[in-house]
Amino acid sequence: MLRSTEPGLQLHHVTRRYGSIVAVNDISLEVSQGEFLVIVGPSGCGKTTLLRLVAGLDVQDEGSITIQNRIVSGNGVFVPPEKRRVGLVFQDYALFPHMTIAKNVAFGLHRWSKADVRQRVYEMLDMVQLAHLADRYPHELSGGERQRVALARALAPRPDILLLDEPFSNLDAGLRTTMREHIQRLLKGINITTFFVTHDQEEALLLGDRVAVMNQGQIEQVGTPEQVFHQPATYFVAEFFGYTAFISGHVTSAGLETELGFLSQRLSLAPGSEVNILVRPDDLSVYPDEEGTAYIVRAGFQGMHCMYQIALPSGHTVYSLMPHTSVYAPGTRVRVELRPGHDLVCFPNNRSMSAKGSRIADHHFVY
Ligand code: ADP
Ligand code: MG
Repeated sequence: MLRSTEPGLQLHHVTRRYGSIVAVNDISLEVSQGEFLVIVGPSGCGKTTLLRLVAGLDVQDEGSITIQNRIVSGNGVFVPPEKRRVGLVFQDYALFPHMTIAKNVAFGLHRWSKADVRQRVYEMLDMVQLAHLADRYPHELSGGERQRVALARALAPRPDILLLDEPFSNLDAGLRTTMREHIQRLLKGINITTFFVTHDQEEALLLGDRVAVMNQGQIEQVGTPEQVFHQPATYFVAEFFGYTAFISGHVTSAGLETELGFLSQRLSLAPGSEVNILVRPDDLSVYPDEEGTAYIVRAGFQGMHCMYQIALPSGHTVYSLMPHTSVYAPGTRVRVELRPGHDLVCFPNNRSMSAKGSRIADHHFVY
């Protein structure tokens, strides 16, 4: 992927408090020029606050923010939003209702000549494939079209960074998929540094060059989509990416004895150590078996696959994705086979599982 190692955006120990709430808690982060970084986390974790600080719509209590090696906030400096060279796209489009589409896109082009504005507006509308709607008003457009106008408007002044806050949340599922593909192609083409905020884990994994997983004002992990999915650093990150289950196991000199059988996987922990092992639906197979000690709790038919929720004798719940046409009914006794085909992520079990979801240093995963 085309990406410079020059930083496009740097956050140094940025904290923002609202009274007793720490909305952004000591975040340090670097985004390379041309990189597409996704900030993902549940509602209320501080994503919008972080984006507003970068945009200059809000000011942090501590720390500093640098865009293209220029301090824009902190250390006694504050560059106002219109001078930061950032493009903004919000969930609600925020178009000017009384202006045509062309006027909306031209909005940020101050001090450009009339001819340049005209050319840039049509270039941008061409890019989002809306040139034929230039003279319409926002209320005459669909949601997807409005969001493409918002994108064209944000990119028109050639910003250094594009900031997007849940830009597709107001679109229906089908349109959201189309828009994701569209934006990915478009932004790769112009190689702009992108800071994209979403609560949607699928969107994050799909779009991000890297993904930063945020929880309660902090970044729990930053990594490629593969890293945050397959090597989650914390319970929170593991559980955030869906259909995650844990089974118990303990370390032996030969490998890992689990409640679903032996794995030859070696860990850097002493024999006898207890671990919680992360299993995802593709790590397990399930077969009807009258002698089985587990049973189907729920069967979700998904067309080509069926997603089973399975209760184990230990009381743990696991998920299994099975490709077949016959669906086993809830209550069916089953045998569960653990055949991951890769090392599983293990967390030392030196506290109770009730600590999951919290950020606890000694709950970080081990190999
Ligand atoms: P997200 O975008 O991840 O949903 P926000 O950044 O909007 O989260 O909010 C983070 C936390 O900060 C929440 O607890 C929210 O209630 C609080 N918060 C955000 N903005 C303000 C504000 N202007 N005044 C007081 N509290 C705020
Ligand atoms: Mg938000």
